[in-house]
Amino acid sequence: MCDRIYMDHAATTPMDPEVLEVMRSVASARYGNASSVYLEGRKSREIVAHAREQVAALLHAQAEEIYFTSGGTESDNWVIQGIAKKSPRGRILVSAIEHPAIRRTAMAMAEADVPVTFLPTLADGRVAVDALEAALSEAVSLVSVMWANNETGVLQPIGEIASLCRARGIPMHSDAVQACGTVAVDVRDTVDYLSLSGHKLYGPRGIGALYMRKGRELPPLLYGGHQQDGLRPGTENLQAIAGLGKACEIAQIHMEERAAHMLVLRERLLAGLRAGIPDLCVFGSLTSRLPGNLAVAIPGLRSESLLLQLDLEGIAASGGSACNSGSMEPSHVLTAMGIAPSLALDMVRLTLGKDTTQEEIDRVISVMTALAGQRA
Ligand code: PLP
Repeated sequence: MCDRIYMDHAATTPMDPEVLEVMRSVASARYGNASSVYLEGRKSREIVAHAREQVAALLHAQAEEIYFTSGGTESDNWVIQGIAKKSPRGRILVSAIEHPAIRRTAMAMAEADVPVTFLPTLADGRVAVDALEAALSEAVSLVSVMWANNETGVLQPIGEIASLCRARGIPMHSDAVQACGTVAVDVRDTVDYLSLSGHKLYGPRGIGALYMRKGRELPPLLYGGHQQDGLRPGTENLQAIAGLGKACEIAQIHMEERAAHMLVLRERLLAGLRAGIPDLCVFGSLTSRLPGNLAVAIPGLRSESLLLQLDLEGIAASGGSACNSGSMEPSHVLTAMGIAPSLALDMVRLTLGKDTTQEEIDRVISVMTALAGQRA
């Protein structure tokens, strides 16, 4: 059997062997509960503290501003539900292209009568800053705009939005799950809350973090023990925390070279696909975008069918549509960008990783070109 080609790094990334090694040694040697007062507990606390430093360093934050969670979904829920609980009458502004961890949480808050506004998006996949600015008022309790979109990879104008929010004293959150570890994410002078996830940056699954700026507050999402100042209780998942810390440290060291590598290959991929498939559609800005993302459509070739055929050819990729009551629905991200549903249903997302090779890219180009040529 020929080797598989993994083109779905936005879904999850393979764990870095160095991360696995750290986790293995922590899991086998550090069994103390990080809350215990004796030596074993203190050793475990040191591991948590070190990982907190590593995560903070990636974001240019302070260690005490980092809370470990079970992943991006929990971090997102904590912020949206926490703000809604704190100010039930305050309006929450979220972009129309958020991941379901924000989108569905915001919808659930709206059902509970919390005012929520979904902000429009431009055709290039970036949030419409003018519309956002017009929606800012004293009644707004939170603005949440993702750092980079998970379907198109489009980088959002976070600096611009953050300065609008800061000028008005409005708290801002960003779901940076896709961006962290791939592009520079700096919380200084930008956001007040930020979500990240271990498994998107070659770390473990089921672990993530929430950055909360000093001076900002959130009620806990979970109630329990006094861990993490009682704000995120539960016995610390020591090996996962250590793994997340290591993954952040590695990502910080190698970020630029990894990004440059992915960008060269993505450009090769795009050029090759365009040459072989003249009617190829590309979604979202190509300049303000994560280096490893290419969201495209071969018009008339449904993504479900293309993905199945790619899988048979040894290529793993994904689409943006969701199955709802047995029928396919176009992605809410592409719909918000004004893409016609019939074309949106053809979208496939190819996401490269740090270890993607030129040979893999060339194979993807030739397989996709051949499949496009077989269209009825
Ligand atoms: N936010 C974004 C933008 C994501 O891409 C994902 C995962 O796909 C999540 C949140 C959820 O993160 P996790 O899988 O760690 O819960």
